[in-house]
Amino acid sequence: MPHIAHIAVQTPAHSAVGELLSYASEEVLPPGTLVRVPLGRRELLGVVWEPPAAPAPLPEGLELRSVACVLPGLAPLDAGWRRLVAFAAHYYQRSVGEIAVTALPPQLRDMTAEQLARRLAPPKPARKSRKSKAETETEPQACEPVRPQQPAAIPSIALSAEQASVFAQIEQSPGPFLLYGSTGSGKTEVYLRAVQAVLEANPQAQALVMVPEINLTPQLEERFTARFAPLYGAEAVVSMHSGMTNPQRLKSWLAGHTGRARIVLGTRMAIFASLPRLALIVVDEEHDASYKQQEGARYSARDLAVWRGRDAGAKVILGSATPSLESWHASSPTAQGGPGRYLRLAMPGRIGAAALPRVRLVDMTQQPRKAVFSPPLLEAITARVQRGEQSLVLLNRRGFAPVLFCADCGWKSDCPHCSAHQVFHKGDRTLRCHHCGFTQRVPFACPSCGNPDILPLGKGTEQLEEELERVLRNVQRPDGNPARVARIDADTTRAKGALQEQLAAMHAGDIDVLVGTQMVAKGHDFRRITLVAAVQPDSALYSSDYRAPERLFCLLMQAAGRAGRDAGYVAAQGSRAEMWIQTHDPANPVYAALQKHDYEAFAARQLQERQDAGMPPYAFQAIVRADARTQEAAQAFLNAATQAARDAQLPWLDEVFIYPPIPMAVQRVANVERAQMLLEATSRGALLRFLNHWQPWLHWLRGQGEHRTIVRWLVDVDPLSI
Ligand code: ADP
Ligand code: ZN
Ligand code: ZN
Repeated sequence: MPHIAHIAVQTPAHSAVGELLSYASEEVLPPGTLVRVPLGRRELLGVVWEPPAAPAPLPEGLELRSVACVLPGLAPLDAGWRRLVAFAAHYYQRSVGEIAVTALPPQLRDMTAEQLARRLAPPKPARKSRKSKAETETEPQACEPVRPQQPAAIPSIALSAEQASVFAQIEQSPGPFLLYGSTGSGKTEVYLRAVQAVLEANPQAQALVMVPEINLTPQLEERFTARFAPLYGAEAVVSMHSGMTNPQRLKSWLAGHTGRARIVLGTRMAIFASLPRLALIVVDEEHDASYKQQEGARYSARDLAVWRGRDAGAKVILGSATPSLESWHASSPTAQGGPGRYLRLAMPGRIGAAALPRVRLVDMTQQPRKAVFSPPLLEAITARVQRGEQSLVLLNRRGFAPVLFCADCGWKSDCPHCSAHQVFHKGDRTLRCHHCGFTQRVPFACPSCGNPDILPLGKGTEQLEEELERVLRNVQRPDGNPARVARIDADTTRAKGALQEQLAAMHAGDIDVLVGTQMVAKGHDFRRITLVAAVQPDSALYSSDYRAPERLFCLLMQAAGRAGRDAGYVAAQGSRAEMWIQTHDPANPVYAALQKHDYEAFAARQLQERQDAGMPPYAFQAIVRADARTQEAAQAFLNAATQAARDAQLPWLDEVFIYPPIPMAVQRVANVERAQMLLEATSRGALLRFLNHWQPWLHWLRGQGEHRTIVRWLVDVDPLSI
């Protein structure tokens, strides 16, 4: 008599999601066991799950297919990991199978059982004496963490008074903590100490440290490896991010799963790492939008970190110089005067008494028209080049110009497939759509009227680079060499290793002026930058997205944090750290707060506005989006979905406000029309429960008559932009 196993698998996107699939198995398979199962003509990776509360009776005469195999040599995924996956599926309205399988390393999906067995086989005794790299990769599965090889040495760096006080509180309270510390206040050092403390307290404990960007992981890995490899061995620190090869990812994942890795560093995907002894989670730059996945399951790794920490009994530290308004709110006293849900720990000072840069606003309405750079900014940059200091120029738009334009007939370089312009890239003379990727050669004359004089309108990073090269052509560095201008954006860093190379050149002082997008504004510990300039940040202030000012403020604070990080250097140079902002709206309160480095005033104002308007974090939102060949079809689906909820009188509907569908800001992408509908509730629980009831109806509706033409639909819970 075979047993029935309930398996979480990733079913094709079109079928209804949400259920586990049942298979026959000769033996009882404990939950968490990794298996392969047949589905249609394919064989898929699956995870044995707990039986559903009310198992559906098997249809008469249906024969269960059998589990194809159990993946050999792998301990089952533990209950904590399964709870995390189940929670994420429930919260973000996806299937358990989808979250579970996509959380596992891709190679587990693709390897045959034999390949995996070979990969995991205990090393042959004959080879055991050799300490080759291959051998350490194939160590057996037993949870045998590397023990400290020497008594943990106190690192030579003495904590500052602020760091010491914060660290003491982390030791004493359960958290979660919001570490609110200026850029350069030494937050990373606090993370290192907190990790060290949990590893010392428990010889098997594991820590997870997350950063928002792949390009920040090497820097972090260096610091953590330098600190912990001497104590716990080089194998104890592993990374997890999408820039790694599949074998590397599998290796890191196994190290975490088996307990060999004591510290996992990674981007948002690392939140789903199997870490049976998790004792600490750090989320650095917790405000960063990159923690929110924008494809498939739209989870927030930051929010899941808080949930996972509480569930696993692990401490959670969220760190930022400009916390998200959600976290700031959560760490503020409640309206009744009680303590917030998070414990706020502040580190206002910069290490080494480095001053935060002076913020200078340039009123562009008083500058020569059409000037890319105002004359005083150019002077300031030139003077720095001549003194051998570095400058960073930020513009969040790559390419040469966002659009080409014909002054005679009004033609614009619109993308034929999207409701967006094609961006002019001068380097390779192309017009490229940044939404669908459609690329064309730049036409010799206006395609509409033949006018040979088509003009670039607006500016992108390429243009800034060209302009700076022109202006600084005859400017010399102290060593007599000509000024060097470089650019870092998605276009210059496509080649593997290109970004690291360019960052290294910046650190080495080979670059005098770096032009870049927000990629370079975050996290990097550049030592010789004394000037940061944002040349055109205003557009964010007029965006319809209510989070745009928050994002702009964070980005500019972060960017400012790149200037003057080394007080000794700034003083020795006789220079001063400055942040320049070119704006047409110098009186805007966002800039006034920035000038005072006053995050708290900014946050208080924003939160007040949000409260008055009934916006998050005082309300909870979800978006339902539909894509279709026509805007009417997309909106019809959303309208029908609302009607279905009303007709069925779904529970909690009364507590959820459903707005009418509207076209998305970029309405058409790759010939697909996109519409969305906002849902709002004052209770998170009500919104969630309503969505859980509604979801099967959305699946059902999609299969009905006219709605079959819907290209896709999705739910985004806690969306970052609406
Ligand atoms: P943050 O993460 O807040 O931006 P970091 O931890 O990177 O700041 O610290 C900024 C700089 O100060 C780094 O170069 C770091 O090595 C140094 N630093 C941090 N803490 C100390 C300390 N207690 N004593 C001396 N230097 C420190
Ligand atoms: Zn024309
Ligand atoms: Zn396009």
